[in-house]
Amino acid sequence: MIEQGNRRSQLMIAAILLFLLLGAGAGLWTILQKQRADGWVRHTFAVTDRLSDIRILSLRAEIYARGYVLTGSPADRADVGALDARIPAAFRALEHMTADNPHQRLQVPRLASAVIARLVLARHVMALRDQERQAEAIALIDQPSTRGGATDILARIAEVRGEEDRLLQLRLRRSGDLEYALEIAFGVCGLLVLALAYALNRERLERLEVLRDANAQQQRQIAEQARIEGALEAALQAKSSFLANMSHEIRTPMNGVLGFADLLLHGELTPEQQRYAQLIVDSGKAMMRLLNDILDISRIEAGRMEIAPERVDLRHTLRNCIRLIQPAAAQKGLNLCFEVAPDLPMFVAVDGLRLRQILLNLLGNAVKFTEHGRIAFSARVAKPSLDSIEFRVQDSGIGIPEERQAAIFDHFVQADQSTARRFGGSGLGLAISNRLAMLMGGSLSVESLPGEGSTFMLRLPLTEKRAPRQVRREAAQPSAPTRALRILLAEDHDVNQALVEAMLAQLGHQAVVVGNGKDAVAAVRRRRGEDKPFDLVLMDMQMPEMDGLAATRLLRADREKVPVIALTANAYADDINACLAAGMQGHLAKPVLFGDLAAAIAKWAPAEQTVRPPPADAALAVEPRLHALFATRTRELRDLAERIGHAGLFADADIDQLRGLLHKLAGSAGMFDRAELGQRAADLEDALEDADAGSRPTLVRQVGEMLRDAA
Ligand code: ADP
Repeated sequence: MIEQGNRRSQLMIAAILLFLLLGAGAGLWTILQKQRADGWVRHTFAVTDRLSDIRILSLRAEIYARGYVLTGSPADRADVGALDARIPAAFRALEHMTADNPHQRLQVPRLASAVIARLVLARHVMALRDQERQAEAIALIDQPSTRGGATDILARIAEVRGEEDRLLQLRLRRSGDLEYALEIAFGVCGLLVLALAYALNRERLERLEVLRDANAQQQRQIAEQARIEGALEAALQAKSSFLANMSHEIRTPMNGVLGFADLLLHGELTPEQQRYAQLIVDSGKAMMRLLNDILDISRIEAGRMEIAPERVDLRHTLRNCIRLIQPAAAQKGLNLCFEVAPDLPMFVAVDGLRLRQILLNLLGNAVKFTEHGRIAFSARVAKPSLDSIEFRVQDSGIGIPEERQAAIFDHFVQADQSTARRFGGSGLGLAISNRLAMLMGGSLSVESLPGEGSTFMLRLPLTEKRAPRQVRREAAQPSAPTRALRILLAEDHDVNQALVEAMLAQLGHQAVVVGNGKDAVAAVRRRRGEDKPFDLVLMDMQMPEMDGLAATRLLRADREKVPVIALTANAYADDINACLAAGMQGHLAKPVLFGDLAAAIAKWAPAEQTVRPPPADAALAVEPRLHALFATRTRELRDLAERIGHAGLFADADIDQLRGLLHKLAGSAGMFDRAELGQRAADLEDALEDADAGSRPTLVRQVGEMLRDAA
């Protein structure tokens, strides 16, 4: 409606403008015509003026001639002489002025001849006077024909003038008519200008009205959109928190399923039962992975995913990832290469757990979607900005069509419909990785050609960190020793067993020591049955038979509440998270420090205990017996390294054994003031893990040399 009105106004304005233009044109034309008409009027007046002049001149000639005849005054003669020149000039001008009028073209020459004839007569009478023939001259002047000549001139002047008067009347009427037309044109134009002003104003008002309407509509839309967004947000929150709760709730019983299935696997089973138990474990693990993914994506969507940068040993983390993916790659016969640029710093600030999660997803996909060829994993400082780290996972697999490349970063999206059928998967991994990368201030991208392979690039901001300071034994103050607690220590390494046992004894607690996770679970159950439950369990992570994580999961599946503290050689965020996910309460980094152990026990000790102030000197006095044991274990490790070196075979089993002993040394050396040795042992353990056949001899030799120097 308003729009229609608006168009009508615009049409009206256009019409008014057109008329205004026509009116102005007509006005202009009329003005020009009027100017011309006025010109003609002025011309007519000029002609009549000229006629009057001629009349006066010819009368004067008459009078001066008569005067001369009567008085003989030379002045009169001179005056007539002057008129001789002026009268012909006056006639020439009059003829010129009336040349356009046929009537006057006829009459004016006649008038001129009459006047000239009178002038000739005047000169003639004056000549008679000069000849003293005055009476004759007067008689000539008084002659009736002479008088008639004068009357004739006046009549001719009246004739010419009558014509001019007629013309004047005509021209005055025309000028008057034009003036009237001009007034009408001005009046019309004035009216049109008023109409235009009115139309413009009306159009402006209508436009304002339209704008007001549009504005109101937009406001309504914005309000509606805000309402919908609010509802969506609430729905999304509800969905995310439902998913988070559900996946958490499902994870708890799943821990039980996995734990017991694991226990079953380690029991006496027929081959068929073994296979079934293995299937339960595999399916359970797949389900746990899916649950974790759902939990992650819902946490991200609810804005509850926290990124916690920490100091991360990059090479160690990347090696860990490779180590995890290697068996799957080897199983498919894929060549997995790994390269870290030397200019990358040793330690960087990054959320190690999330970095690992993204890289494992990319590496896992690369293995999953590649049948032959190679997978290349590399890390380097991004050029030329130098402000980020670039991780690349390149495969020679099936590739992703270009039009699907953007979509695979959405959740539950796979590159094509058949993917789920052929390769399984939920389509969540890349969505989580992409969002994690963004939360970490970086980005994830892909380049791919179907049939040739894909390259995934992860970029994260690069912040270098200094290497950790040497751990000091007295790092933390022990606190809150209490009544003698019953503490179970699950630890397979005898040096560590003896050390922690000594610490516990010094703190006044009773320790029961077991060498693997299975025995730990059995001991906890037995003590509960005897109603002498443990107050605390200290659980090593890596143990034969059953590791600390599996044992803890079993305990939690048993609804066992006893606090479990992990003893870990690697206190990386992902290790710690794995401990917490399995149901542990805390962790202690190896080598275990006396003060830290005391503090952890105080923290997790049952609340009803009476608290005794901590001893003034918290440092543990390491007994000579322990020193001797440590020296023996170190020697054994050195001997093993030398034996392997001499045999020159470097078989997998030997290397695994060597790595096991290095791991133990890494976890205990710090207690004997040999933190540096511990660090070196940890590095060699890592290096040996990824070492190919070519580099094993050098590393084994390095182990021998390190221990020869240490002994
Ligand atoms: P999932 O692998 O569980 O299906 P992801 O989110 O990790 O979920 O991957 C989404 C999809 O992207 C995959 O289903 C697959 O179609 C495609 N994709 C991911 N990585 C690769 C790769 N390296 N090569 C080919 N396709 C890939």
